[in-house]
Amino acid sequence: NLNQKISELEGDIQVSFEFFPPSNLAMEETLWQSVNRLKVLAPSFVSVTYGANSGTRDRTHAIIKDITQRTTLKAAPHLTCVDASRSELKQIAQDYWDNGIRQIVALRGDLPEGAGKPAMYAEHLVSLLKEIADFDISVAAYPEVHPEAKSAQADLLALKRKMDAGANRAITQFFFDVESYLRFRDRCVAVGIEQNIVPGILPVSNYKTLCKFAGFTNVKIPQWLHRQFDGLDDDQTTRNLVGASIAIEQVKVLSREGVKDFHFYTLNRSELTYAICHTLGVRPASVLK
Ligand code: FAD
Repeated sequence: NLNQKISELEGDIQVSFEFFPPSNLAMEETLWQSVNRLKVLAPSFVSVTYGANSGTRDRTHAIIKDITQRTTLKAAPHLTCVDASRSELKQIAQDYWDNGIRQIVALRGDLPEGAGKPAMYAEHLVSLLKEIADFDISVAAYPEVHPEAKSAQADLLALKRKMDAGANRAITQFFFDVESYLRFRDRCVAVGIEQNIVPGILPVSNYKTLCKFAGFTNVKIPQWLHRQFDGLDDDQTTRNLVGASIAIEQVKVLSREGVKDFHFYTLNRSELTYAICHTLGVRPASVLK
């Protein structure tokens, strides 16, 4: 019957949530409120970022440990390689494995200003992790091309090498032009990438911060998005509603295009992400039963 069909369809969608390590008590409280609000949606994993060059690895590890101990969620630390030696990375990977961590988001990290050619790219980190243990590995992908890439094709081939080194999926940089994601997905298939290219969804609530961030990540902010937030600088409530409606539209188109996995950049907030998941049919496990 129809209801059964709908719930089967709804059960198809998988989500994952990204958090960052809080830097004070109030932020820690917000993080836990968000984790607790979102955990009922049974994400396939949650991940915690790692601030390259800023010494937050211990905080990443601590949050990962807390999430693992206090919930039944699978927690994946982000790990970058620009700022560590191979032996340090091996030690970290072994520690994670010994602590029951089976999933890692493997990244190169941003280069410090003025740095030359890095000793390691993310593909080398993926190989190193696989030498230590059979981790489930996510890597980064850039539908609108990574800012340092020589060309879109070179960037795509770098992604292919990460996949060939053993990555299980790629998570994309956030984007607003859905077409750019869809074209990118096609190009991944064309170069023989078989793993999932999971769209990274950024629910926008702070438009000003977004513009700053988009500048150095090469993410295009379309004119229509600018118009949507125009005049809302002092109106957080309306910004949230607008941000949610934009992301809801985005995931609706993506799911029509066959996307079944979504990664959310939650920025440690739950409201928008929860609403977007709801519209995708992702409900608390008890409601779906
Ligand atoms: P790579 O895949 O190594 O690519 C980096 C650049 O080098 C690309 O331009 C690529 O085309 C090029 N390249 C690759 N291989 C070669 C080669 N052999 N020779 C020459 N050029 C090459 N940053 C953090 O610091 N902490 C985080 O927690 C974090 N989480 C992230 C999560 C996601 C989902 C995403 C999309 C990004 C995240 N980042 C994070 C940002 C990321 O670290 C930066 O974008 C970084 O500049 C590139 O990392 P990468 O893993 O994509 O690198």
